[in-house]
Amino acid sequence: MNLLAVVAVAVCAFTQSAYGASDTIAWCYHEESCGESKWPTIAAPFCNGTRQSPINIVTENAMEDGNLTEFTFQGYGSSSALTIIENTGKTVKVGLRSGTKISGGGLSESYDSLQFHLHWGNGTAVPGSEHTVDGKQYPMELHIVNSKSSLNGNTSLAVADPEGLAALGFLIEELPNTENQPDSWKTLASYLSNITEAGTNATVAAGISLDDLLSGVNRTNYYRYLGSLTTPACNEAVVWTVFKDPIRVSKNLIDLFSTTVHIGNTSSPLMVNVFRRVQAAQPVSTQPRSGSSAHAGYSLALMGISLVMGRV
Ligand SMILES: [Zn+2]
Repeated sequence: MNLLAVVAVAVCAFTQSAYGASDTIAWCYHEESCGESKWPTIAAPFCNGTRQSPINIVTENAMEDGNLTEFTFQGYGSSSALTIIENTGKTVKVGLRSGTKISGGGLSESYDSLQFHLHWGNGTAVPGSEHTVDGKQYPMELHIVNSKSSLNGNTSLAVADPEGLAALGFLIEELPNTENQPDSWKTLASYLSNITEAGTNATVAAGISLDDLLSGVNRTNYYRYLGSLTTPACNEAVVWTVFKDPIRVSKNLIDLFSTTVHIGNTSSPLMVNVFRRVQAAQPVSTQPRSGSSAHAGYSLALMGISLVMGRV
């Protein structure tokens, strides 16, 4: 997960001593000198921490937690919530209008939705999601980055708080036998040709909402764990939510990400395989499986019957 550039700059401005390095760390995904195997040394202490993201989610091990209630999404239906789309050189990031926020979902308070960005591999052929589920890696992953509303956008406080940020992760899989679907993703991907070089951006015209981009996902079913930013400085400040349903997008649109935007100017390499590999496992929780209490009752009844039968 990438923080907003603004966030990184603000972090540096606010706390030179503790976090000043976070926007000056020359990290990368693929070069020998700055790739992810070097992050633990070039971005210590966090990138070599003990609650790092992403992780492989082992569905069988997810613990049931009745506190993981439904989210309330504010502004997600607005067709003017998306502001600027930017090529950061590490991802494609889209800013969100203020007033876009989430609450519920087992979070301790409301969080402001700041931006979303994407991780991908190399087309649909080489998957590039960050989280994996039972070892399965998806073609792409979308991250919505949210900051505790009570911190009023003070990002130095957010990254210093073990739950200062809430990230929503959506896995993206190929929608087979279609082109240019869904419409919202066709529109989003159409901006890529305007931001082929790192540092360039474009204004997103009104017309697509977050709800449109997240269509097909039942947002009441998700995994929850405490983790970190997935890019340096890897701050362990993130409440992670990974939704069980994937977003389904046509192959031709997924392929556009790895064939259109560059990591520098147009003579630099294309942006491919922009994801961190999975880190050490963390405890994961999820909603109680429906009918689990009924099953328990059923088992007890069976046990009772066996006891009675045993006596006969
Ligand atoms: Zn991310």
